[in-house]
Amino acid sequence: MTLSDKLQNAYVSKSLFLRGLQCYKSLYLDRRRPELRGEISYAQEKLFERGKEVGTYAQMLFPCGIIIPYEETPVSEQIIRTTDEIKKGTLTLYEPAFTYNNVFVKVDILNKGKKGFGIYEVKMAAEIKDIYIYDVAVQHYVLKGAGLPISKANLVYINNKYVRNGDIDVDKLFIIEDITEIMEEKEDFVVKEIESMREVLKEDDIPDIDIGRHCHNPYDCDFIGFCWQHIHEDSVFELKGRGANGYELYKQGIIHLKDVPQELLSNNQKIQVECTLERKDFINQKKVKEFLNSLWYPLCFLDFETFYSPIPPFNGTRPYQQIPYQYSLYRKDNADAEFRYYEYLSQPGIDPRKELIEKLLKEIPEDACVIVYNKSFEIGILKSFKDWFPEYKEKIDTIINNIIDLMSPFQKKDIYLWQMRGSYSIKAALPLLVPELSYNNMEIKDGEMAMNAYFTMAKSKDPSEIEKIRKALLEYCKLDTLGMVKMVERMRGF
Ligand code: SF4
Repeated sequence: MTLSDKLQNAYVSKSLFLRGLQCYKSLYLDRRRPELRGEISYAQEKLFERGKEVGTYAQMLFPCGIIIPYEETPVSEQIIRTTDEIKKGTLTLYEPAFTYNNVFVKVDILNKGKKGFGIYEVKMAAEIKDIYIYDVAVQHYVLKGAGLPISKANLVYINNKYVRNGDIDVDKLFIIEDITEIMEEKEDFVVKEIESMREVLKEDDIPDIDIGRHCHNPYDCDFIGFCWQHIHEDSVFELKGRGANGYELYKQGIIHLKDVPQELLSNNQKIQVECTLERKDFINQKKVKEFLNSLWYPLCFLDFETFYSPIPPFNGTRPYQQIPYQYSLYRKDNADAEFRYYEYLSQPGIDPRKELIEKLLKEIPEDACVIVYNKSFEIGILKSFKDWFPEYKEKIDTIINNIIDLMSPFQKKDIYLWQMRGSYSIKAALPLLVPELSYNNMEIKDGEMAMNAYFTMAKSKDPSEIEKIRKALLEYCKLDTLGMVKMVERMRGF
C-alpha cells in the first residue's frame, strides 16, 4: 500500500462513517472494492430527489442563508468557502463543509444563535432512528473539533400529523428535536468508531463479516448482490410469516429449506416447504369454494393507484398520506352479463380526489360486492375519501362494508403455488395462476414504478411523453384488475 493509499484510507466522510456503523464490510467494500456495488435503482434515485425537495423546504425554517455548493465543487474549496462565510459573520449556511482529524462532514443547515451555532440535520422520515443521532453526533464532533462554538444539535424531521391548509407552513411541517444533551455522551463512541474504521480500511483483505439482518438495517446495503451470492433458490430466507425465521436458521447453519426441522415450522410454512421441495401446488378446494360462495352480484373488481409525498400536495392532506390518482374497475351485474370496464387517470397537475370519487361512486352499484387485493390498502384510501368529502360518507361506508379481499385465500395458504416463494402478493400469484397475463412485458411493473411515472408525467411539458406515460399507467392498472377477474375465473375451476 502506498503512502497516498494510507492517507486516503485514513480519510473518513460522514456518509462512510454511517456506512461503517451499519457494517464494516460495507465500509471496506465501498472504499476498496466499489466495483462490487450494485446499481442504484430508479426508485432510489427518485427517493434522493425527494430528499432534496424536503431539504429545500427545511431551509425555509432559516431563510436567507448562503448555500455552499457541493456538486462539482472540490471538498477543499467547500471548506474554504465555509470558513470565509463564518469569518464574514454569515448567520445561516446551507450545506457548509468542515473537516477535523481527517473526517469530513457537511451540515444541512448551520444557524448562528446568541450562544453559538446550531446544527440542523434534516431527514425526510417521520420518525427518529438511532442512525440519525449518530449522523448528528459525527457532525458535532467535527465542528467542535474544528473550533466552532456549538450551542445546539438538532434533528429536523417530518411531522406526519400536519394537515396542509393553503401554502406549506414549514414551522408545522417539520419537528425540530433538540438532541444537544446526548451529544457529549455519544462523542466517545464516535471517536472509537472512527479509529476502528480506520483499522479496517488498512487491512488487505475484505472483513470476514457474514450476512444478516444488518444487510437491510438501517438501510438496504448496496453490496447485497456480492455478499448474498451463496444464497440460492429454496433457501430459508424464502420462509415468510410466523414460525421459523430465515436469519435465525441461517445463524444455526441451516440454509436450505430441506434442512429445516419440521417442528420449527408453522402450519403455513409447512405447506410452503412441502410444496417447494416437491414442486407441487396446494389447493384447499373446500375453502376456495367457501370464498367463491361468499361473492355476489353485482360484482366489481377495483384497484387504486396512489402516490405519497413528504410534502402534502393538496389542502386536507398529510405528509406521506396515500393520494389516489387512478383506478380501474371491472363490473359484472349478473351471472349472464358481460364485464364492463371503467377507468380513471388524473390529468397531470390537478387535485384528482373529487373527480375520482364522484366518478367511482357512479360506477359502483349500490350493494355491489367489491373485490380488491389487499383490502387494508383500498379501505384506507376509502376512509381518507370520507374525511375529504364527508358528504359521501354513507355511500363510501357501503362500499367498505362490501369489500372482499381476494388476497385472503392466498394469505391463509388455501391456495399456494410453489413458485410463489412464500409471497402472497398479486405480483407473485397472478403470473402463476394466469400465465397469459404477465407484468414482464409491461413498461410499468409495480406500484412504486407507477407512482414515479405519475410524478414524471405531472412535471413533464412534453405532450408525447405525457401521452406515453398515460398509456403505460392505464395498461398497468388495468392488468391488476383484469388479473383479479381472471384469478377468480381460474379459482372456479379448482
Ligand atoms: S450485504 Fe450485508 S454483509 Fe455485505 S457489506 Fe452489506 S451489510 Fe455487510
